[in-house]
Amino acid sequence: MDPHAARVVTLACHACGAKLAGAASVDGACESCRRPFAAHVRPDGTTDLPRPEPSLLTLGAWIAGVRRMMRGETVCAGACSACAGPAAVAADAPVTFACTHCGASRALRADAVVTAPIDGLQAGLNATAPLKGSFALTYTLARRDAVSDGTHACPGCGAAVPPGHTSDACAYCGARLWMIDASGRRSAYWLHIEGRRRLHSVDTWVPLAHAERAIAPDVEIFRSAGNLFKAIGLGIGTVFAVMVLGVLGCAGLFVLLAMFSR
Ligand SMILES: [Zn+2]
Ligand SMILES: [Zn+2]
Ligand SMILES: [Zn+2]
Repeated sequence: MDPHAARVVTLACHACGAKLAGAASVDGACESCRRPFAAHVRPDGTTDLPRPEPSLLTLGAWIAGVRRMMRGETVCAGACSACAGPAAVAADAPVTFACTHCGASRALRADAVVTAPIDGLQAGLNATAPLKGSFALTYTLARRDAVSDGTHACPGCGAAVPPGHTSDACAYCGARLWMIDASGRRSAYWLHIEGRRRLHSVDTWVPLAHAERAIAPDVEIFRSAGNLFKAIGLGIGTVFAVMVLGVLGCAGLFVLLAMFSR
C-alpha cells in the first residue's frame, strides 16, 4: 500500500462516526543513532516529536530515511531528540486509537496515519574553506511531480524513467518510482541544491539515489571549516608562547607554567 495514498486528514470512529480525539502511541527508533523512542500520534497524523532541523552532517541520514520511506519500509515521524536524525516507525507498526465517545478502538498501519514531516527539510553550508573559496549552499528535500516525460529519475538507482512508462516499479532495480496521493497525483522526493560553490552559482535537482554522493564533498568542507577554527586557535596559542619565551627568556617559562596551571 502506498503510504501517502491512504492519508486521513482527521480520523473518525468506524463504530459511531465521532471524530477521534486524544492520541495513540507508536514506537520506533532513530535511523541515525538507533535510539528507541515512543511518540504520540494525533488523529490528524502529526506527532509530538520535534520537527527536523538537520545539519549537513545529519542530512545524509535524512536522505537514506526518505529512500526507505519511498520503498514503503518506514515512515519518518519527526526528528530524534538526541541527534536530530530521522525518527522512523515501521510502515506496518500498529497505531490504535480508542474512541472517547463509544469506547471502540480503531487500529491502523503507521503509514496510513503518520504524516512525514519531510517537505521543505533544509540544511545549509556557509563556509570559507582554506584554498577552496567560499560556499553558500542550501539543501532542500522537496517533492516534485513525477511526470512520465523522461524527466523523472528512479529514487532507488537514479536511472531516467523512459517517457510513457506506466508501471509504478523501476524497470532496472524494482524500486517504487513515486508516491501516489489520494487525488492520484504522483510525486517523489528530490534534493534541491541552490546557492554558490566557489565562483559558480548552483541550482540543481539531484535524484535521491545520487543525493548522498552529491553532498559528500560539501560535508568534508563543512567538517574542515569547523576544524579550521581549532587550527587557528592552536596557531595563535603557539605564537603567543614563543613571543613570551623570546621576550622574557627563562623567566617566561615560569609565567607560562603559572598561566596554564591555573
Ligand atoms: Zn465511537
Ligand atoms: Zn538519533
Ligand atoms: Zn531503479
